[in-house]
Amino acid sequence: MLTLFPWQEGAWQDLPGNRTLAHALLISGPQGIGKIAFAHRLGMRLVCEQGRACGVCRSCVFAGKGDHPDILVIKAEEGKAEITVEHARALNAFLALTPHLAERRVSIIEAADQLNRSAGNALLKTLEEPPAESFILLVSHAPARLLPTVRSRCQKVHLHKPSRTEALGYLKTRGVSEAEAALKIAHGAPLSAEGLPKDALNTAFRLLETLEHLAKGVLDTATAGEGWQTLDLGYGLSLFTGILADIVRLATVGTLPEPFPGDWEPRLRRLASQLDLQQLFTLWDEVLELHGLADAPLDRRLIWDKLFLRFEQLRAQ
Ligand SMILES: [Zn+2]
Repeated sequence: MLTLFPWQEGAWQDLPGNRTLAHALLISGPQGIGKIAFAHRLGMRLVCEQGRACGVCRSCVFAGKGDHPDILVIKAEEGKAEITVEHARALNAFLALTPHLAERRVSIIEAADQLNRSAGNALLKTLEEPPAESFILLVSHAPARLLPTVRSRCQKVHLHKPSRTEALGYLKTRGVSEAEAALKIAHGAPLSAEGLPKDALNTAFRLLETLEHLAKGVLDTATAGEGWQTLDLGYGLSLFTGILADIVRLATVGTLPEPFPGDWEPRLRRLASQLDLQQLFTLWDEVLELHGLADAPLDRRLIWDKLFLRFEQLRAQ
């Protein structure tokens, strides 16, 4: 059964009914809040015999197992960062057929921002003249990366992060230890927090220590880079951007929005005073950009070396 997360109830109630729903929906919002699950739940609703994701009809059972003949899930192949034109053609062909079991056919594009240009163009025709009773659900945390022509043809559904209380409540039910710190490291996204490795807090402090040494000039960047390449790149970059964001907040607003255990805050304050903040914004942008490529087969060691080198250059003169 595909259930909704508690913080998605409102957005779910606000969705138009099956007969008035647009043929293409762009479901956007931050990472780690359950957008894909939401899209699958909507797919279930569209194929449900009762039209409401009842969870018990034949269609819902198949959809719940990810095995419905009228639902096609499109995503980049393992280890690839692109959804290609072949995927888009498969989607077009799939939606043009009459449904097998349900009244409708649904295609869910997970991480639609990975559609490359030719795939996006291949989709356009289907978006412009959708076959009867066909639906495309595009999911993306970075909708700005989609072709504007694709984006403009979709109805937008934006999902929000849950409140801190909601997120902590959820993590508690999932038995996540050090939930506050995990949520902080995951920038408030509960599913990302749940998926963090057990030693996330230690890793965050270890990264902070490395940056402190670089700022003091007591560590060379080559030595600093050692060991980080074994860390999942998306996760490592998320820690790195988190630290940069906190430094900026402390230097501008003066406080952190969420508490963090231990001496995190005073140490970051000290670090902030040692850096050229103007340049730090540039580095922040660069890291965010890298974040979009975290699933691509990149040389992690090279990336960490570069990040640490760039960080070292932030030392105030
Ligand atoms: Zn059903």
